[in-house]
Amino acid sequence: MQVPLLDLKQQFKQFKAELMPQIEALCDNQSFILGEPVASFEKTAAAYCKAGFSCAVTSGSDALIIALMAEGIGAGDEVITTPYTFFATAGAIARVGAKPVFVDIEPRSYTIDATKIETAITTKTKAIIPVHLYGQSANMGPILEIAKKHGLVVIEDAAQAIGAEYMGRRVGSMGDYGCLSFYPSKNLSAFGDAGMVTTQVQEKANMVTMLRNHGMNPKYYHKYVGGNFRMDALQALVLNVKIKYLDQWTEKRQANAALYDSLFNDVPGVVTPSIASWATRHVRNQYVLRILDGKRQKVWDGLKAASIGCDVYYPVPLHLQECFAPLGYAKGDFPESEKAASETIAIPIYPELAEEQIRYVAATIIGLIK
Ligand SMILES: *Cc1c(COP(=O)(O)O)cnc(C)c1O
Repeated sequence: MQVPLLDLKQQFKQFKAELMPQIEALCDNQSFILGEPVASFEKTAAAYCKAGFSCAVTSGSDALIIALMAEGIGAGDEVITTPYTFFATAGAIARVGAKPVFVDIEPRSYTIDATKIETAITTKTKAIIPVHLYGQSANMGPILEIAKKHGLVVIEDAAQAIGAEYMGRRVGSMGDYGCLSFYPSKNLSAFGDAGMVTTQVQEKANMVTMLRNHGMNPKYYHKYVGGNFRMDALQALVLNVKIKYLDQWTEKRQANAALYDSLFNDVPGVVTPSIASWATRHVRNQYVLRILDGKRQKVWDGLKAASIGCDVYYPVPLHLQECFAPLGYAKGDFPESEKAASETIAIPIYPELAEEQIRYVAATIIGLIK
């Protein structure tokens, strides 16, 4: 039996008939940049995230960059985040000229350890970027409190977690900004790259929207140096159709996770993902196991041999990446992130998985660690 890590072809069949005439109409009118489809998706997505405003952009990475730019964060500034995330979180900080300052994760949720943030704050700190990893919210209550106390901006990296909730509050609605990604591996995905910035504040929304289009308003009058971060109308059409299915897909992901949880229950050497007390809605973007006793490589090799897709998110914590060597971090600085990087493995969790596929994946892993 083959089990890919993700199968978007099955998903496409569900909405193809509805989407294709819209794409054909777009081709007929040839209006490819921004326009009504983007404005309409912005409204729908902001409402979904329970945020007042949203700005559709080119990618999740660019969403992070724009949020930092909107706050004027740059050279000489420090931004706190976790080293156990996709590169773009810290990459965005470096791209605007600021310095990423890492804080270790809390080992059960894999999100930033809020109890360790305050010791990392200096007079140069301007913002905190908590990451809602694998579809689960970071511990936002204490993070927001610390930010308020020290006058820091909070930019939620919600790329993996659209629809996730912290104590009933949606990710992207709590911080000053929320950054979403619609990359194909995310729960809501475009036909290519796309992203979004959310905010509750009209002025911030205006700023982000101006920066998206070269800091221009009105046309050809540039108050700021922005960039070309505009979402394509085509991506907005796709996302507008797909967002209607998002809750039902999320429920299937949650059911798949529950089945895995029961199949791995009490299996020694395998730690299933835990749901934090604050995470009232986990949207299961990834189902990540910890494989103990140094057996991850064995599981990885065995899954590949059995035609089961898997991946490691992420094998090298960001403080040990070559490009960040100038930051001066060393091995051992963030032990929980390093441990997670060496023990975790993501297995298929996408909504369209069949029950027999899930049982096959679990049985294969249990066989491999025996
Ligand atoms: C995917 C991802 C991003 C970047 O999004 P892109 O749309 O791929 O640029 C940023 N942060 C996290 C945590 C991600 O998973």
